[in-house]
Amino acid sequence: MSRVLVIGCGGVASVAIRKCCQHPEVFTELCIASRTKSKCDALAAALKDKTTTRITTAQVNADDVDQLISLIRAYKPELVMNIALPYQDLTIMDACLACGVNYMDTANYEPEDTDDPAWRAIYEKRCREKGFSAYFDYSWQWAYREKFEQAGLTALLGCGFDPGVTQAYCAYAKKHEFDEIDTIDILDCNGGDHGYPFATNFNPEVNLREVSAPGSYWEDGHWIEIPAMSIKREYDFDAVGPKDMYLLHHEEIESLAVNIPEVKRIRFFMTFGQSYLTHMKCLENVGMLSTVPVLFEGHEIVPIKFLKALLPDPASLGPRTHGKTNIGCIFTGRKNGEEKTYYIYNVCDHQECYREVESQAISYTTGVPAMCGALMLLTGKWTAKGVHTVEEFDPDPFLDALDKYGLPRRENRAPSLVE
Ligand code: NDP
Repeated sequence: MSRVLVIGCGGVASVAIRKCCQHPEVFTELCIASRTKSKCDALAAALKDKTTTRITTAQVNADDVDQLISLIRAYKPELVMNIALPYQDLTIMDACLACGVNYMDTANYEPEDTDDPAWRAIYEKRCREKGFSAYFDYSWQWAYREKFEQAGLTALLGCGFDPGVTQAYCAYAKKHEFDEIDTIDILDCNGGDHGYPFATNFNPEVNLREVSAPGSYWEDGHWIEIPAMSIKREYDFDAVGPKDMYLLHHEEIESLAVNIPEVKRIRFFMTFGQSYLTHMKCLENVGMLSTVPVLFEGHEIVPIKFLKALLPDPASLGPRTHGKTNIGCIFTGRKNGEEKTYYIYNVCDHQECYREVESQAISYTTGVPAMCGALMLLTGKWTAKGVHTVEEFDPDPFLDALDKYGLPRRENRAPSLVE
């Protein structure tokens, strides 16, 4: 019996909302609030006869804390699910604190304007001190730990698949499979094909920023940064087959290094086809990935935002995408003095997702964990106050929920390791 405010109504939010509406016994009332209210209204209308969850909609600019506070005060939710963009994480956390409401999101904070001098000074200091140059990091949200704890509130960060489920897999491996973990390789494979020459599977701006940035990994207590796409491996994925994958920086490495401190190395690999990489390099070389506004015929245009307007909307890829995703973690370490390896992962089929929730698997594999994370908070399975990432909670009820609600785990106790 709960009332939840969802902010954002894009690809991931649509899946999370549809999945919440499959469980009206928990998600009794939902308010869908976003910048473009018509999208919220369209989804509410599509779900009207399919659920007993009572859905309302609202318009909100989530960059504006006062607007958020008014909305939260008027709706009085128990939980705010931030499924807008990482740019809005801090304003929504501020509003939740002001209103005494629990918070969750699916990606850690990064600023929309990376040229803001105040932000840039802090960023450059962090690059020097920590040794990785991604625009996003946990420091901004970890700075809210005491405030949430003192307010008796929970903020659950990064509860999608990666980050999110990958950290639950790590917590599960630590709880059940290993006394000590030596290495973690997170492997994210999308074997799907949408038939377009070039499109991104989730928000193009956030996605292209992430994959065009230098890669980095954690080894022996520090970060090692490498040029973008300069470490390539091939891996033969269950249900997908052999794929090229590249080492990327990824946000969960940062929290896992803190929360599983014995781990000697943590890496993250994502698969890309050659055509995707060639398109991306070309767009980068001509300046289309830039966030710095340019003056064009009297109008200011941000190149990456213009590119986003040209590219297919990720939410429209559902009907055209065929194939499977395979995302999981490979561990090495010891149990009872014996060396062991362990691989836990999920395989998800794009077309099955589309049939169920009218979305491709990338939004599905993010939206289902968001719903399951909300379920953990609302049903009292995860109660720790403060600001926490997924590996800090008991993985068992969360993985059980994922098994049941669309993302079942698979295990392999003799996996091929990544060189
Ligand atoms: P979309 O671009 O499809 O949707 C974003 C939504 O947020 C849109 O409805 C947009 O509104 C809304 N929004 C943007 N700015 C504002 C604002 N200022 N105020 C109110 N609403 C706003 O993104 P996705 O659904 O693909 O991604 C959602 C989140 O999920 C992102 O944070 C992304 O990084 C994360 N993600 C996490 C993954 C994981 O595994 N952890 C994997 C994939 C994504 P409008 O319609 O007006 O544009």
